[in-house]
Amino acid sequence: MLKIVIDPGHGGNDPGAANGYHYEKYFNLSIATETARYLNDNYSAAVFLTRISDIAMGLSERASFANDLKADYFVSLHVNAGGGTGFESFIHTKANSTTQKYRDILHNRVAGFYISSGFKDRGKKKANFAVLRETNMPSILLENLFIDHPTDLAALKKQSFLKKLGEAIGEGIARTLQLKTKAPGSGIVPARMPAVAKPDIARQLLKSRNPAAPDYVNIYVRMGELYRIRWDAVFAQSCKETAYWKFGGDVRPEQNNFAGLGAFNGKGGASFATPEEGIEAQFQHWHAYFHGGKLPPGRPELDPRRQAVLEAGWGGALNFVEDLGGRWAPAPDYGVSIVRDYMAKFVDEIAKPDGNEGWNPEAEIERLRKDGLVANEHDAKAPVTWGEFATVLNRLRDRLA
Ligand SMILES: [Zn+2]
Repeated sequence: MLKIVIDPGHGGNDPGAANGYHYEKYFNLSIATETARYLNDNYSAAVFLTRISDIAMGLSERASFANDLKADYFVSLHVNAGGGTGFESFIHTKANSTTQKYRDILHNRVAGFYISSGFKDRGKKKANFAVLRETNMPSILLENLFIDHPTDLAALKKQSFLKKLGEAIGEGIARTLQLKTKAPGSGIVPARMPAVAKPDIARQLLKSRNPAAPDYVNIYVRMGELYRIRWDAVFAQSCKETAYWKFGGDVRPEQNNFAGLGAFNGKGGASFATPEEGIEAQFQHWHAYFHGGKLPPGRPELDPRRQAVLEAGWGGALNFVEDLGGRWAPAPDYGVSIVRDYMAKFVDEIAKPDGNEGWNPEAEIERLRKDGLVANEHDAKAPVTWGEFATVLNRLRDRLA
């Protein structure tokens, strides 16, 4: 399966170009996420992002991430600044003929989208940029509009525009690499993507199932950034493995092992000194399946079962959460169950695949809370009193007046 690295430029304390409170780093991550989503939904390929959240990352670190993976294509995404308008692409000054050929296909597809949207194609350019120079595979850098041009910025601020741009870039990459269409029966939740769950909704779900459960959501979020794995999937797995932290299986709570690492055939499994270490070990196990052998720089080796994954030949071989079935655990529907029975309870996009089907009570209550129509926490399953109902109606009536 071909490997594609998509690199959202800048991040963390490096905002990139800015215009007021609009920062390039956020646009880059949105465009990269839409591009990766389009590829994961439509094509058979292993798609990696150099960062899945707003964290700082050096230029050489981005290049070596792709080099270590032996990626087939490296696509860096940026937004321009400095007085101009439109789209341009860069390859390295000494780019070989494959890189030039790839660039022509991708550039033409994306430029076609820009022209049809009323923007200028500024052309195919060359530069000695670090990420282009230091990557061993064909690489390209796209400058998507100008943050300091009012018309360009207005387009970048529209999520619908970024989605179409992501589709154009994704389709361009697919044509460049002649990707095969996605195989029937593939999973629907790619693991190497930014989480879409809101931490508060995850907390509410856990609290509604087990009011005594500890709150480790922030640890999952932080580890997800570090290991480039969506935290909502890993948290959902822990909800499954610990029965919402009620335990009751072979693993005891004080082991800090929330993923059943090393627990099989009645064996109690691994123990970790702190919840942080246990959760990091869990992420390292996901990392082995979805990224392969090399841990992020500076992280301690914590997962006692990591080598077993790598020796079995599964290192970096999986794409979707559903692919964990038969690997992490013997049950073929193990990954499907994480998605269907746990993630779908707190991740809107999974509960409502086409935007309006299904129910997500936690998310609906959160919407009311955000809008100030309900003030207190309310268990999604608890009955509503006549007084509470009247209060919400009156608040609505006051707003309409
Ligand atoms: Zn930039």
